[in-house]
Amino acid sequence: MRILDDWLAAHEAELIAIRRDLHAHPELAFAEKRTSDLIAERLRMLGLAPTVLPGGTGVICDIGEGERVVALRADIDALPLPDLKDVSYRSRTPGACHACGHDAHTAILLGVAAVLAAMDLPGRVRLIFQPAEEAIPGGAVGTVAAGAMAGVVSIYALHCDPRVDVGFVGVRSGPITAACDRLDVHLSGTGGHTGRPHLTADVVYALGRLITDLPGLLSRRVDPRAGLSLVWGAVDAGNAANAIPASGSARGTLRMLDHDAWDAAESLVQELVAQIVAPTWDRRRSSTPGRAWAARTSRGTSITRPARWPGSACGVPDRRCRSTCTSRGSTSTSPRWPSASGSWSIRRWSLSVSGAVLRLPLARPLLCLPIRNTAPLLCVPLRSTASCCV
Ligand SMILES: [Zn+2]
Repeated sequence: MRILDDWLAAHEAELIAIRRDLHAHPELAFAEKRTSDLIAERLRMLGLAPTVLPGGTGVICDIGEGERVVALRADIDALPLPDLKDVSYRSRTPGACHACGHDAHTAILLGVAAVLAAMDLPGRVRLIFQPAEEAIPGGAVGTVAAGAMAGVVSIYALHCDPRVDVGFVGVRSGPITAACDRLDVHLSGTGGHTGRPHLTADVVYALGRLITDLPGLLSRRVDPRAGLSLVWGAVDAGNAANAIPASGSARGTLRMLDHDAWDAAESLVQELVAQIVAPTWDRRRSSTPGRAWAARTSRGTSITRPARWPGSACGVPDRRCRSTCTSRGSTSTSPRWPSASGSWSIRRWSLSVSGAVLRLPLARPLLCLPIRNTAPLLCVPLRSTASCCV
């Protein structure tokens, strides 16, 4: 602990500078070229041999030797939001901002790399700088395909978390945040006049039913402990008050914490969508015999999902290895200010805990607490805090 504190005290300014540089130059999902180059260069300066992923963004780097690998993962992409802060390291890229803390995650993992590179490790640690965490499907797919999980027996993801007070780190065996599928439902009919809805397929009415019924039915068909949540984010149909449109769509995200529920979700959603919209079309009276709804919820066109990997931030764990998620207390400059906002920031302490976050999984690799997804977050107090922005 003492050695780590001394190291952090000596390198704090350097880590803050890295984080601020990343913050000033945010890059969106799959475009993190500069960020990846910076990461690779910093790792080379430590005498390490990083590998940039085949897509040109994202970096993997092993430290030490051994067949069994412990992986530490940070995400590196920014959000498509304006940076509203008035600070010297404000984003210089219009419409892009590190509003989710990935700049801090990247700086933290680079700090961890520096510590590990100076140690005589008894095994192998893999640093994974994953691109495109904010996209669906995200960069996890390509990261896994590039071999990031090869030999991994345990992986630890880190994400700042406004729910955790400054000075604490939250730890849980398994997922903290959910895996996320994007759900697009498109309904199509022939359109018609609002004075004769019985002669056509009323897309708007069917969408209304779908929007309210599908989340409710899912909650009655899936074990509540799976933590499944369907929330719509966009609905689109029609232009005129007296015309039933020929098509409409609803888009949302489907999130869950349980692997079995994740496996079953796609077919279940398709089944329920068909059941919900079917009664809204009268086959006997329709002016379009043989044609009713076309509802697409397939994986390729509508439901897209990341590979079996800690998903959105941590997500559904890979069954091949133990995954543990740490959520780093990041109460912002305004208490409980939500992340993913242009005003969001973090406090200085956040970089200081990088050593502690590292220490927890490595010092206690069997920190497989008897808690499941529904258990409260275990909050571990860390050392004192400072109040200025990183
Ligand atoms: Zn994030």
